[in-house]
Amino acid sequence: MAERVATRGPAEPAARVDDGATTRDARGEWAPRVLQQGQPFVWPPQPKKLLRFLLGFPGFLWPFGAAFYYGLAALTWRFLQPGAPDLTTFTELRAGWILPMYARNVALLLVLAGVWHVLLYWRRSQDTRFKYNKRWPSTRNKAFLFNSQTWDNMLWSIASGATVWTLYEVLLLWAYGRGLLPFADLRANPVWHVAFFAVLPFWHDLHFYVVHRISHWKPLYKAAHYLHHRNTNVGPWSGLSMHPIEHLLYFTRWIILLVVPSHPIHMLYLMQRPAIGPALGHAGFDQLVLKKDTDKRISIDNYFHYLHHRHFECNYGASSIPFDRWFGSFHDGTPESYARMRRKRKLPPEEAPANGR
Ligand SMILES: [Zn+2]
Ligand SMILES: [Zn+2]
Repeated sequence: MAERVATRGPAEPAARVDDGATTRDARGEWAPRVLQQGQPFVWPPQPKKLLRFLLGFPGFLWPFGAAFYYGLAALTWRFLQPGAPDLTTFTELRAGWILPMYARNVALLLVLAGVWHVLLYWRRSQDTRFKYNKRWPSTRNKAFLFNSQTWDNMLWSIASGATVWTLYEVLLLWAYGRGLLPFADLRANPVWHVAFFAVLPFWHDLHFYVVHRISHWKPLYKAAHYLHHRNTNVGPWSGLSMHPIEHLLYFTRWIILLVVPSHPIHMLYLMQRPAIGPALGHAGFDQLVLKKDTDKRISIDNYFHYLHHRHFECNYGASSIPFDRWFGSFHDGTPESYARMRRKRKLPPEEAPANGR
């Protein structure tokens, strides 16, 4: 995860803030910073930065991290899951509980991914301030269905993404109902319930890295992952815009539930987070301006994954575990990183623009 940018208060002159207005290169690209080693694997420990990583925006734990998705899963199970908490409901595959689940998931996606799109791309609430790429999504590009990047991305996200997401949820509830999955009752095992939740964010990132690396294996890239990578200039709806083959792989975080005792709330967490999280992870903006008059802002940093979309063969991982550093694919946004990446890919040296691209 990138180093967080401290939100500056109104006392600091706005002119000193690098928001990309004057620091873009000729291609309209803005590099907000040189990426540092991500928390929490920094040694010696940096308590302040670690706290910011865990609890500052977007926050590994809070507010948009694990705690948000845990809350969403718990609320879904309590209020939006037909048949819950009686697991015997799910022993038979019936439209009565399956169709409302599908409608629920499409609605969750429309609301939680849509809110970022409406704010930043439809209303353009802060124009291109803190936007990594000054271009807006393509509206005349034949690479996309209807020549429109946004409509194309929405279609793949909903028609394929929400369908595979729901399909797995249905099968997993059916498996809980039939006693095919090791089950941990919430009341009988509260300690295990919480302990497993502490592990899941790391499992989430480990799974993301492994599946993403596999997706870059040439045959699989050509068959499926290329579709996600048409988005070199990302937006919130690019996050879940993938080929159905990739969705089938991407949503398999549940495989841990085959061996580890769990509750359906754990399952919902493992399904909802990769469905909804990518909208923010592909927002394309480094900071969200909350109040224009005081210039109050929060970090919604997604620069690390943005560089992956710009350069493909780097930054495959997610926030918590520095796989890319360990395996030599880390790109910090500098010209040196860019040159190293080209050497590794046996590409001829190229004069990189000032900000490393
Ligand atoms: Zn992506
Ligand atoms: Zn990729």
